[in-house]
Amino acid sequence: MTAAKSWRGHMGEVLDTVRGFDVLECQTCAFKHIVPIPTPQDIDGVYRHEYYSTDKPQYLEHAREDAEWWDTVYADRYDTLEQMLPPKRRRLLDLGSGPGSFLAHGSRRGWRTIGVEPSRQAAEYSRSLGQEVVEDFLTPEIARQLGAFDAIHANEVFEHLPDPRAMLGTLRDLLAPGGVLCVCVPNDYSPIQATLRDACGYAPWWVAPPHHVNYFDGDSMEGLLTSARFDVVLREATFPIDLFLLMGENYVGDEELGRRCHGLRKTLELNLVAGGRNDLKRRLYRSLAEVGIGREVVLYAVGPVTDPETRGRP
Ligand SMILES: [Zn+2]
Repeated sequence: MTAAKSWRGHMGEVLDTVRGFDVLECQTCAFKHIVPIPTPQDIDGVYRHEYYSTDKPQYLEHAREDAEWWDTVYADRYDTLEQMLPPKRRRLLDLGSGPGSFLAHGSRRGWRTIGVEPSRQAAEYSRSLGQEVVEDFLTPEIARQLGAFDAIHANEVFEHLPDPRAMLGTLRDLLAPGGVLCVCVPNDYSPIQATLRDACGYAPWWVAPPHHVNYFDGDSMEGLLTSARFDVVLREATFPIDLFLLMGENYVGDEELGRRCHGLRKTLELNLVAGGRNDLKRRLYRSLAEVGIGREVVLYAVGPVTDPETRGRP
């Protein structure tokens, strides 16, 4: 029997309690998030100075190791954006641009790109790649100085935000009419995770406060986008890496095994690409998204448009 809880207008059933934070099935927000919600001040220093050095020390090293595979992931995203937008609309903002590899990929394809990234280390690395980065959090004040964009990309950002609804308002104002927002978030409290709890006794390892504030799935992320007046036109999954756990390979807390499982996933995807079957890969991941499977969910949404005919669908 789980208890209901309310905190500053947020209320719902408590799903889990980890390190003093309760995960709420929030009825107010219509998605799951922790309470208490960290304040922007609570997390400011973490993302500016510690995130890539203390919390993700190997992130930049792995990014280099995985560069060929990341290129295939990014190619899919740019392919989709290019299908949805006319050829002259190629101005992109990458929110939480990390080490800048998504920006660099876009530059090579002829996009005009800029990143917003609070981590000094990641911003400096991006600049070493020749990429333009605003080293800060995206606030409405900073947004006003940036101008308008045809596309905005936010990879693994929304799970970290204390107020994701407010951020969507800021992004909506930054998008030119008919512009496209691509959001990738972890798919949490998924059927695979539920099975691992029920059948194998796993603790909810995916609950990671205070960094992960929000726990979305495809439906709740789409609901949030829709409520912010975005029109979701495509939903894809990423590889369901947690299938390895169901197959008995427990990589939770085992970095070496985790990298090995990730390597197998890379091999699978790179072989599909090399064999000319990228389209099969993408159709497979769209099917997985339909049944709620996939470690992450990737949503493409069109900003508010006045003329429905200008609305791009891939
Ligand atoms: Zn809430």
